[in-house]
This record gives sequence, C-alpha cells and structure tokens, in this order.
Amino acid sequence: MKPVISLFDNPTLDTKAFWDHCDRGELRINHCDACQRNSHFPRQHCPHCGNRAVTPRAVSGKGVVYTFAHVRFSPFGTHWKSDLPYCVAHIDLEEGVRFMSRIVGDDREQVRIGSKVSLVFVDVQGEEKRRLPCFQLLA
Ligand SMILES: [Zn+2]
Repeated sequence: MKPVISLFDNPTLDTKAFWDHCDRGELRINHCDACQRNSHFPRQHCPHCGNRAVTPRAVSGKGVVYTFAHVRFSPFGTHWKSDLPYCVAHIDLEEGVRFMSRIVGDDREQVRIGSKVSLVFVDVQGEEKRRLPCFQLLA
C-alpha cells in the first residue's frame, strides 16, 4: 500500500499508548472497567461514567461506513497534492464506537454509506515507523 501523508503532533499523555499500538499494527480503543462501555478518541477516563480505569483493547478491525468525503483539493498546500484524491470516512466499528479514518485502496471511489470495511495499517510518508490505521473496502 502506498504510504499516506499525514500530520502528526507529538503524542500526548492521552494519545501515546494509542499511537504506540498503531505503530505495532494494533488498533486499540478504551474499554471502561466500571461501566463496560467502549470509547474513542484516546483519553485517560471514560466519557460515559467518568471512571479513570480504562483499558485499551484490540478491536476486530471490522466496521461499516457511516459517512465519507472524497478530498480533491489540498488545504495544506502543494505538499499534499500527491495524496489527492483521498477519502476521509467515519466508520462505525463492531465494538460500538465511531472512528474517523481514511478509506484506502484503488477501489476507494466505490465507497458508499453502509459499505463494509476492514482495518489496514498504512505507512506514513516521512515518518519512520509511524503507521496510520486506515480502512479498505470489503468485496
Ligand atoms: Zn465508564
């Protein structure tokens, strides 16, 4: 898979574990030890009950497209033009959280609301060992 262009800030206390798992090819989302609900984006507490005992758990990597947009213009200048067009999507994971990501693959223009997708990690251009969790269409 062709490396993608992405912007990364330095990981924070909330996001470091998430990105470390991604770099190893694992997508993990927080599971609350108190209310047993999942949540995403990464943070050190449960947004449902406020409990601070959350555990990152691996996900199946399966989901359904909630919505998407094909990006055909680079808002970040010429550096991003080589990645155009790319597809940004909100994906409802089997684990019950909505996840913002990209749809990758040569058939990404075929994406529709409700399309079934699976997780794939893609290298980030210019970021040694950094991997971005993306999704590809299932046949
Ligand atoms: Zn909770």
